[in-house]
Amino acid sequence: KDSDFCSIVVFGASGDLAYKKTFPALFGLFKNEFLPPQIQIIGYARSKMAHDDFIQRVTQKIKAESDEDKAAFKKFVGLLSYVQGKYDEADSYKNLAKAIAKNEKTGQISRIFYMAIPPSVFTDAANNIKAHCYLKDAKAENRLVVEKPFGKDSESSRALAQDLAKNWSEEEIYRIDHYLGKEMVKNLMVLRFANVLFGAVWHRHYIHNVQISFKEKFGTEGRGGYFDEFGILRDVMQNHMMQILCHFAMERPSSLSASDIHDEKVKVLRAISPLRQDDVLLGQYTAGTVDGQSQPGYLDDDGVPNDSQTPTFAAAAFHIHNERWEGVPFILRAGKALNETKTEIRVQFADVAGNIFPCANGKKAPARNELVIRVQPKEAVYMKFMNKKPGLSQEAVETELDLNYDSRYADVKIPDAYEALLLDVMRGDHANFVRNDELKAAWAIFTPLLHQIDRGEIKPAKYAFGSRGPDGLDAFVERHGFLRSTSYQWTPPKI
Ligand code: NAP
Ligand code: NAP
Repeated sequence: KDSDFCSIVVFGASGDLAYKKTFPALFGLFKNEFLPPQIQIIGYARSKMAHDDFIQRVTQKIKAESDEDKAAFKKFVGLLSYVQGKYDEADSYKNLAKAIAKNEKTGQISRIFYMAIPPSVFTDAANNIKAHCYLKDAKAENRLVVEKPFGKDSESSRALAQDLAKNWSEEEIYRIDHYLGKEMVKNLMVLRFANVLFGAVWHRHYIHNVQISFKEKFGTEGRGGYFDEFGILRDVMQNHMMQILCHFAMERPSSLSASDIHDEKVKVLRAISPLRQDDVLLGQYTAGTVDGQSQPGYLDDDGVPNDSQTPTFAAAAFHIHNERWEGVPFILRAGKALNETKTEIRVQFADVAGNIFPCANGKKAPARNELVIRVQPKEAVYMKFMNKKPGLSQEAVETELDLNYDSRYADVKIPDAYEALLLDVMRGDHANFVRNDELKAAWAIFTPLLHQIDRGEIKPAKYAFGSRGPDGLDAFVERHGFLRSTSYQWTPPKI
């Protein structure tokens, strides 16, 4: 209701995430009138910052160019304030509680505590917030938003979950996996469950294999110290990519309620057998040349130990042992310092049996149909399929049905994932957050292999900065059933 009051407290407001994502997302929501009218946004961190320095810091990535945006920006800045304090000291939180309460005058009150802080201080902060800043009034709402990493393996994740659970209920915790806020990941359920066409073929009878790729063309760029503790499997695959896999593979939930969706995702994760060494190809990038410029190798990053065996690339084949997916490999590929930046899902359908048509390049069989869902950049859904070569020919050639968001939805601004997720937090909708049992099931798939890597038992293959990955990559995907057609020609649309 308009009379209700919402306080958002961003812990770690001096940090990276806060200025890159959290505050720009809050501004995006504010300018589009999605924030409640009665709101305050408080930054909290240990750093000493004058009010103006704080504003300057957290708004540096916000673009407000039009007159309308400039006016909105001015009002938005008026909602912001900063409180300095420690993460492990009761007095700091008492001081924060006073600052929060000062403006909360009306209606039902909700407090959202957003943890943009390193995991080493999660528990201290969560416990202190509960002790000093939590509203006990039965009508009030308290919500705790936490960012990955949610542990490093099954054991540490369980310990973190137990620590948080001492003071916070599962209902109050919102675990962010920002991939769940991405337009195309949200679209997966609609594509599958609102289309007879796709729903009917989403099955081992018609799908041969599925590839989910996450590629970045940049390396660790000075954040190697952080990355080296985790590696690509923990940083990207166990969380973002498994979330995509779950949305792709789960059964239709009974409703769009958070618990129905989470229940189905957990079932998929529990049906996946733990990764074995044989199922993975690991890589680590070395120096390379991109557009004539030399680029450093992973081990050249100052924060990375010289003998690090941490993978910066991984390809892994997952098998879902259920009635729908038995026998269909899900090949996940993730890597840094590659030839391009993209995240996509590539569904490769089964071969046509008993072909009667001549095919391109004298091939005996039509190329497999492929459905590609491009998550980023430039959202798109395209279907590669066979068509009669136009003209006096009976040849079957590859072409595409192409839904390109740039042209089809030219007037729509796709919200940033963080905007979508922060709005969900304010609305109390958990559907796009990670439930604790999902985490447990996902870590169970990765933990034995991660421990082998941590013990140095699996060495990553080297690949050059700017390449498509280690040498064995194409053989690896082929071994798991992916068949690449080289005859496809794409002509970009004229927008
Ligand atoms: P960050 O910049 O390293 O840290 C945020 C703030 O926490 C710092 O400004 C610092 O503030 C405080 N801090 C840093 N190290 C600390 C320590 N050892 N002990 C106590 N306080 C410390 O982190 P971030 O990149 O913003 O990320 C915050 C959280 O979001 C992390 O859990 C991270 O894994 C997660 N995350 C980040 C991103 C991203 O794009 N950056 C993406 C996904 C998830 P004060 O010293 O002023 O208190
Ligand atoms: P593609 O780029 O041909 O890639 C298909 C698969 O083959 C990917 O798994 C790819 O791996 C792999 N591959 C690429 N180059 C390879 C090589 N040299 N050796 C072995 N494997 C290789 O994708 P496509 O879907 O057929 O599309 C072709 C082009 O058309 C792309 O540039 C695509 O963006 C464009 N297109 C765009 C739209 C649209 O924007 N709506 C629609 C249709 C097509 P990697 O992922 O590692 O490269």
